[in-house]
Amino acid sequence: MSEAKRISGTEFAEGLRARVAEAVASLKKDHDLTPGLAVVLVGDDPASQVYVRNKGIKTREAGMESFEHLLPADTPEADVIALVKNLNANPSVHGILCQLPMPGHIDEKKVVETIDPAKDVDGLHPMSAGKLMLGQDGLVPCTPLGTVMLAKDTLGDLTGKHAVVIGRSILVGKPVAQLLLAENCTVTMAHSRTQDLPGLCRTADILVAAVGVPQMVKGDWIKPGALVLDVGINRIDAPERGEGKTRLVGDVDYKAAKEVAGAITPVPGGIGPMTIACLLRNTVTAACRIAGVPVPSALN
Ligand code: NDP
Repeated sequence: MSEAKRISGTEFAEGLRARVAEAVASLKKDHDLTPGLAVVLVGDDPASQVYVRNKGIKTREAGMESFEHLLPADTPEADVIALVKNLNANPSVHGILCQLPMPGHIDEKKVVETIDPAKDVDGLHPMSAGKLMLGQDGLVPCTPLGTVMLAKDTLGDLTGKHAVVIGRSILVGKPVAQLLLAENCTVTMAHSRTQDLPGLCRTADILVAAVGVPQMVKGDWIKPGALVLDVGINRIDAPERGEGKTRLVGDVDYKAAKEVAGAITPVPGGIGPMTIACLLRNTVTAACRIAGVPVPSALN
């Protein structure tokens, strides 16, 4: 059997960001509307800082306004809540993202629930989760949205496919399962208590791994020809690169899996780049809904 198709999320995300930029240009021209994204980061976690900086760059590259609020780690919870309320009331802000995790003295749930659901571009507000469950138009979490976009781009119609989603987190597993169900897949959710996980995975036409265990899914867990979507991002030691060096791997043993799968996302360069692109897309969607104008066709 030939090797699996390597799905480039980097390439797809680049195309999506170009379409977002096109949509933003037409909103400016036709409706004098510039979508704005506000990001709130509390503390100085280096990974979060890099991520927030990247979001700002990509937001501006797409022609949108970026509002970055970088607060010290000891900022009181009440100040964070007050900031979110201000952003809710600011008409130039159409999307609000509170970077998680927040320092321990802040109740993240309270912060997320303060976000106006119309501006909840991370899709984590209970109202957004409820709308996804009910099949209503809400804002969908970015990584799951990106995952399912790649599945549709690779396979086309997903109707009738058996999808196995490993992981049931609120951030990834559950929304991915909801989105696949909405695409008429037959969805099985697996987690740490699932019996015979390898056997279950072997029944999947679409296998989504969102676990956080490096290279857990082995080649012989995969049905020949299946689509494998690896959401995991794990840093492991890489002594072959030199002392103290590390590298990123997914939840799937890529080398073995690509010998069996029909198509597979690599790590890095697979699902990861889709997250920011979908965040920008969600911000445009939110801006259009708030302003009561149609979403530009570039995003369809
Ligand atoms: P969580 O830790 O919140 O959830 C992990 C899930 O995996 C849980 O449901 C857990 O089951 C399940 N699980 C853990 N161990 C096993 C096991 N041995 N067998 C079967 N299931 C298991 O993680 P997230 O959902 O937030 O993230 C998952 C991965 O995706 C991580 O690697 C993370 O870094 C990555 N990620 C990537 C993003 C991106 O690409 N931009 C964005 C977000 C996450 P149980 O519920 O029973 O405990």
